[in-house]
Amino acid sequence: MKEEIVKLIKLQAIDSEIAGFDNIIADHQAVLAGREQAIVEKQEAITVFRGKIELLNQKQQETKSEHDEAGIRVKDRQNKMMQVQTSREHQALLKEIEENKRVYKETEDRVLQFIEQIESLEEEVATLENLCSGEQQLLTEEVEKVEKEIKRIESTKKAIVNQREKEAAALEAPYLKRYAMLLDKRDRLAVVSVNVNVCQGCYMALPPQQVIEIRKAEKLHTCPTCQRILYYKTPEDMAVEK
Ligand SMILES: [Zn+2]
Repeated sequence: MKEEIVKLIKLQAIDSEIAGFDNIIADHQAVLAGREQAIVEKQEAITVFRGKIELLNQKQQETKSEHDEAGIRVKDRQNKMMQVQTSREHQALLKEIEENKRVYKETEDRVLQFIEQIESLEEEVATLENLCSGEQQLLTEEVEKVEKEIKRIESTKKAIVNQREKEAAALEAPYLKRYAMLLDKRDRLAVVSVNVNVCQGCYMALPPQQVIEIRKAEKLHTCPTCQRILYYKTPEDMAVEK
């Protein structure tokens, strides 16, 4: 039995190492995904700003037309002034001229405001576009670096996976089956040590009698709480783990 337990400890050490490689790869990929997301968010902001600019351009053109029309009406009424006969007609035309002059001035101010708003949004778009292209360039370089790094990790991992196959094959089938099931269900940690009567998988205390049995290592013991395979940590075991 002791032999099988030692094999299980070895296998767990290898699987933990493999999990470590997978975590490093996942971390690298998460960093890249985060940077990509930051670029996407800026691109979305650019799209929103462009939509606003288009709307403001439309409003600016409409206001400009109103302005031009008011100008034409002022000239038209001023021409008509020369032909009016009565004071009532004269007063009515004067009123129209004043009203159109007011519209002429008011629309001119609004056109200028629209132009200012458009210019400020265009500046923001230009700033964001600059940031995006800079970040995109850096990201492309980073992706290249990370891909190389991942390839390096994968090749190291491959050698360890090969070693794992050999170790797993040396284990009796029922143990391997139980081990594999635990590895899958218990976050890639199936074999854990007992340290001062505490399971190092779930950190729950074990019955003292069971700890004595685990030390004897005459049969396979599992934690009553997390079902992980237990072994008593001796200096020898620690050497195996390293
Ligand atoms: Zn446990």
